[in-house]
Amino acid sequence: MEKKASFNLAGKEEFEYIMEVFGRCTDDYLFLLDLDEDEYSISQRALEKFDLPSAHFSNAGKVLEQVIYPEDFPALSEDLDRLKYMGGTEHDMEYRWMDREGRLVWISCRGVVIQDTREMSRMLVGRITEIGSKRKADDVTGLFAERQFQLDYKKIRKKGRRGTLLRIGVDNFKEVNERYGIEVGDGVLKMIAQCMEQVSGTERCYKVNGDEFLVLLMEDDVQEARKKYHQVRILIEEQRREQGYRNFYTISSGVVGFSSEELDFEDLSNYSEFALGMAKKNGKNCSYIFREEDYKAYMKSLDIQEKLRYAVNHGFEGFEVFYQPIISVKTEQIVGAEALLRFSCGEYGMLSPGIFIPILEESGLIIPVGEWVYQTAMRQGMEWQEMIPNFRININLSFIQICKSDVVSGIMAAIRELGINPGTVLFEFTESGMISYDDSVQRLLDVLNENQVKIALDDFGTGYSSLAYLKNLRVNLLKLDRSFTSKAVSSDFDYKLIGHIVDMAHSIGMGVCFEGIETEEELTKLRMLSPDYIQGFYYGKPVDRQKFYEQNIRSFSNA
Ligand code: C2E
Ligand code: MG
Ligand code: MG
Repeated sequence: MEKKASFNLAGKEEFEYIMEVFGRCTDDYLFLLDLDEDEYSISQRALEKFDLPSAHFSNAGKVLEQVIYPEDFPALSEDLDRLKYMGGTEHDMEYRWMDREGRLVWISCRGVVIQDTREMSRMLVGRITEIGSKRKADDVTGLFAERQFQLDYKKIRKKGRRGTLLRIGVDNFKEVNERYGIEVGDGVLKMIAQCMEQVSGTERCYKVNGDEFLVLLMEDDVQEARKKYHQVRILIEEQRREQGYRNFYTISSGVVGFSSEELDFEDLSNYSEFALGMAKKNGKNCSYIFREEDYKAYMKSLDIQEKLRYAVNHGFEGFEVFYQPIISVKTEQIVGAEALLRFSCGEYGMLSPGIFIPILEESGLIIPVGEWVYQTAMRQGMEWQEMIPNFRININLSFIQICKSDVVSGIMAAIRELGINPGTVLFEFTESGMISYDDSVQRLLDVLNENQVKIALDDFGTGYSSLAYLKNLRVNLLKLDRSFTSKAVSSDFDYKLIGHIVDMAHSIGMGVCFEGIETEEELTKLRMLSPDYIQGFYYGKPVDRQKFYEQNIRSFSNA
C-alpha cells in the first residue's frame, strides 16, 4: 500500500527554489509536476541534455511527449493518471527519454505526491536519474567507469589543460569470450587493467564500452602515450608467459592529443573512438595517432554514404553508367564497352569511383547499386546490339556482391527477362576477390560458364598477380591494368614480361585486353605484343550513353 504523503510544508515556489539549490549538488535532475495545472519544473541542467523549452513550462503532458520515447509514453501517462485521478501518492518508473541528438537515455524517475500548502493543487515532486551514466566504477576490473572519466575531464577543462587520451581496446574480444568463455574474458580484462594501471602511474584509468580502457595523460606528447601502449603490450606478454600461454589476444590503441579548452567531452570521446577504430582498421595489434585530416575524410565518407543511401532509396538518382569503348586489335573496330559507374551530388559534384565504390562496398549498398548497374548496362548493350551485332557489354562485379548476395541468380534472371544473348555479356572481377575465392565465387563462375556468360580478370598486374590459379578459374579474358601496361614503354623488362603473359594466356585459350592505352607511342609498341583488345583514353574516355552513341555507334547505324 502506498504511504500517504505528509509533506505539506511548502508551496510550489518554495519547492522550485529548493530544487534549484539541491539541483546543483547532485547529478540527478529534480522535478516538480503540478498535476492539476499541468505545469512542470526541472533542474536547469536538464536543458543541456534534453530539448525542453525551459526549466519551467506549462502543457507538461504535451511537451514531455516530445522528449519521452514514444513507446514508453503510454505507460507513463497511465501512471500519471493514477496519481491524478485515483489518489496515487508515489511514482517509481524506469523509461526512456530522447536526448538532443536523438539518442535514447534510460532514466529512473521517482517522486511523491504532495499537496500545495495553499491547497490549490497536488504536485509530484522527485528526481530523475540517468541510469546508464550513474555507474562510476566497473565491477570486473575495479577501474573507474565512463561517467567518472566525464567528470574528470570536466575538471581538466575548467583548468584549460592540455593532455593526451590513450584508448586501448581488445582486438576481437567477442572471439576471446566465445573461444575461452566469459570467465577467461573477464580475466583478460582484469589483466589489461592491471597492466594499464602499472603503466599509467598516478594517472587514472577507466574502463569503457565493455572492452576498452582509457588513460588521461596530462602531458602533451602523443609519442609518449604511444610508448605507454607498447609498455602495456610488453607487460601483458610477460603475464601471459607467466601464466603459461593459456589464451591469446592482442590489443590496439588510439591516441588523441588535446587542448581541453578547444575540445569538449563529446568531441574528445568521438576522436578517441575514431582513433582506436583506425588502429583496428589498419590491421589491429597496432596504434594510431589521431589526425584531423583523417577524421575529416572519415566524416566526409559518412556524409557521402548518406547521400548514396538517399540516392538508392530515390530511384538511383545521381547514379549514371558511363561507357568506354573496347577495340579489337585485329579489326581496329569497336567490339563493345565497359560500363563504369558514376555518382554525382550537389555538394561534391561528380565523384570518382575510387572514392564512392569502397563506400558502397563497406555499407553493403553495392548490392542494390550493382544490380541496377548490370540491369542498366545490359539494357543499353541490347540497344546498341541493334546497330553493332554482338556488341559486348563488360560489367564490373564487386567481391561483396558475390559473397554477400545471391548475385548469380539476379544476373541470370536479368539475362532471361531482357532476352539478351548471354555470350555478349562479360563480368569483370578484380584479382583480390578471386584470390581469396570461396564457394560463392566458385558457384558464380560455374553458373556463368555453364550459361556462356563471359568472365574477365580485371586489373591484372596490380596485386599479387598469380598465373597459376588462372587455369582453374576458367577465365575468358585477362585485363592488364594501366599501372602495368604503361611501364612497358619505358622498361624493357616489363615489356618482355607482358609479352610472356600474353603468350601464356593465349596458350591456355584466354584472350588479353590491355587497359589504359593513352598515346600513339604506347599503342604502337604494345600492339606488337598481340593483345586481342585495347581499352584506353587513346580510343575514348568513359562517357555517358548519349556521347558514347555519338562517338562510337552512330557511324555504324549510318553505315
Ligand atoms: P576498372 O574496372 O579497371 O576500369 C577501368 C578504369 O581505368 C576506369 O576508371 C577508366 O576510366 C580508367 N581508364 C581507362 N582507360 C584509361 C587510360 O587510358 N588512362 C587512364 N589513366 N585511365 C584509364 P574509373 O571509371 O575511374 O573506374 C575505376 C574503377 O572503379 C574501375 O576500374 C572498377 O574497378 C571500379 N568500378 C567502376 N564502375 C564500377 C561498377 O559498376 N561496379 C564495381 N564493382 N566497380 C566499378
Ligand atoms: Mg573493369
Ligand atoms: Mg581494370
